[in-house]
Amino acid sequence: MHLSRFPRIHLAHLPTPLEYLPNLSQALGGPDIYIKRDDCTGLGTGGNKTRKLEFLMADAVENRADAVITHGAVQSNHARQTAAAAAKTGMDCSILLENRTGYTDRDYMESGNVFLDGLFGAEIAHFPRDTDMDGAMEDKAEELRSRGKTPYIIPGGGSNAIGALGYVNCAIETLTQANDMGLRIDHFVTATGSAGTQAGLVVGLEATNSQIPLLGIGVRAPKDQQEEKVYQLACATADHMGISGCVARDKVIANCDYVGSGYGLPTQSMVEAVTLMAHQEAILMDPVYSGKGLAGLIDLIRQGEYTKGQNLVFLHTGGSAGLFGYIEAFPAPL
Ligand SMILES: *Cc1c(COP(=O)(O)O)cnc(C)c1O
Repeated sequence: MHLSRFPRIHLAHLPTPLEYLPNLSQALGGPDIYIKRDDCTGLGTGGNKTRKLEFLMADAVENRADAVITHGAVQSNHARQTAAAAAKTGMDCSILLENRTGYTDRDYMESGNVFLDGLFGAEIAHFPRDTDMDGAMEDKAEELRSRGKTPYIIPGGGSNAIGALGYVNCAIETLTQANDMGLRIDHFVTATGSAGTQAGLVVGLEATNSQIPLLGIGVRAPKDQQEEKVYQLACATADHMGISGCVARDKVIANCDYVGSGYGLPTQSMVEAVTLMAHQEAILMDPVYSGKGLAGLIDLIRQGEYTKGQNLVFLHTGGSAGLFGYIEAFPAPL
């Protein structure tokens, strides 16, 4: 597949490592677990949004934009990576943050990703939960246009057919690494939220006939809704690439049993998963996405869904900066 025919700005350190996790694999006693280190994409502490932003920022430049607008939760990793990408490409950046959790403590409101948004020079505005954030972005765009700017709106999570190209690319990159290592991948698992990551991966894995099953572990919406969102975006992405129809509906699978009481609200299993990964492999997960994704993976291994002798790749989508917004969710060090 020839992704460089689409406009793209180089922002990420690629390829990211594909590493074996000996200690975690042994501790869980199930499959051999490999991790695709998209926490190491390199831009402003890294994460999965950087791959999407390579294509989105290029599209902004093609549209002669001099400012980007996006939105997310207060501790949004997407907002932070967008602020970093804007700094790097010399654009203004407006970040609209929705308080989805209702938390008002100082760590949540000012540390972690929010702190970095400001450090990268973005203008930040806060909104209460359930605000129409797409409407708020339109209002912001109008305001910027009235001041003579040319804004470009990046959807939440960078999840549209342009951003998802970044994860088609990740699928191809991972397959190339596996081929070079002689690694047979039996399962691919990722956290899934705004859907661009899973949608891009499923297009890449299906269009190459990899025959690798992909599971998304949800962090917000119920299963039916999440699968439909991923499927619609996968179809739009395939259309954009001129390979319509490459993804069958039954290849889009989400497990949304690990959300807990809501988006961005810590769960006991997330705290255990983040702690286990830190203790076993010294790798930092995040409290909202990769930590809940890993919690799901651990539980599925314990239930016997994935077994000894299989090779499983877990996509580390990043987000460790968010830990500092959630210090209270973790037990105090002894
Ligand atoms: C955004 C994000 C995800 C989810 O990716 P989507 O493309 O939004 O589904 C997973 N992990 C982290 C750390 C994220 O920031």
